[in-house]
Amino acid sequence: MLDELAVARPSLLVVDEAHCISEWGHDFRPDYLRLGAAADALGRPTILALTATAAPPVRDEIVERLGLRDPALVIRGFDRPNLRFAVERFNGEGGEERKLRALADHIAAAQPPGVVYVATRRQAETLAEALCGPELRAASYHAGMKGAERDRVQERFMDGDLDVVCATTAFGMGIDKADVRWVAHSEVSELRGYAETEGCRRAFILSYFGEPFEPPCGNCDNCESGRVRAAAAEDALPFVVGARRPRAVGRGRRPALRRRRGGGAVRRGRLQDARARGGARAGAARPA
Ligand SMILES: [Zn+2]
Repeated sequence: MLDELAVARPSLLVVDEAHCISEWGHDFRPDYLRLGAAADALGRPTILALTATAAPPVRDEIVERLGLRDPALVIRGFDRPNLRFAVERFNGEGGEERKLRALADHIAAAQPPGVVYVATRRQAETLAEALCGPELRAASYHAGMKGAERDRVQERFMDGDLDVVCATTAFGMGIDKADVRWVAHSEVSELRGYAETEGCRRAFILSYFGEPFEPPCGNCDNCESGRVRAAAAEDALPFVVGARRPRAVGRGRRPALRRRRGGGAVRRGRLQDARARGGARAGAARPA
């Protein structure tokens, strides 16, 4: 296959969802690791790698694994001012029940279709049952179901015959549905830092992408409550980047971003800079 492509002498190789190449990313796919060698086999055409979600360590890994030489990094902002961030707490007695009720109220008021992610198979079934009614068509989806059953739920969801799917993470791999209106997560253990921060939630999320943000933002519950002081520093990363520990890859200090008109930024020559300094410092930019 690659040999046949190489004969055509392609001048451009485009890698979409490029973050999938990173073992630091949230969506690592081993096949992507072969893309660097594929580029070699094709005679190293110009490579365009695209992603909408890459934190700084992931960007470095994309450059590294694709073997990009003197890459131009075009980074647009990650802030979406129209998104409002807020945390509601259901602590204390009857908390689980109150949370379920609040979730059901939220879902009833929201425009379908949507997906609720839960932690366990049991929760998926319990929630789907609780939500099902004359006004709402809900079903559960989890790895404990028979394949045919799961396919049926997925088909119904894709065809618009279901308003809500209550699912474990088994659902969603390869789901491409254009009109999903919302996604809810009933368990947020991975987002504990985000939920517990007293600072600006927007700044917290943007820090994951290495994007500085000067709070207050005026569109999160902490800023609205006046809890956020101007110039409050957020030191911690919002959540752990990548659960898997990748093999050691040399990493250099990142040169400063060069601002470009239009809000984008270009970074150039990271690898060359690192090599010129006589090798990279391993793990310099890596969170614990
Ligand atoms: Zn805020």
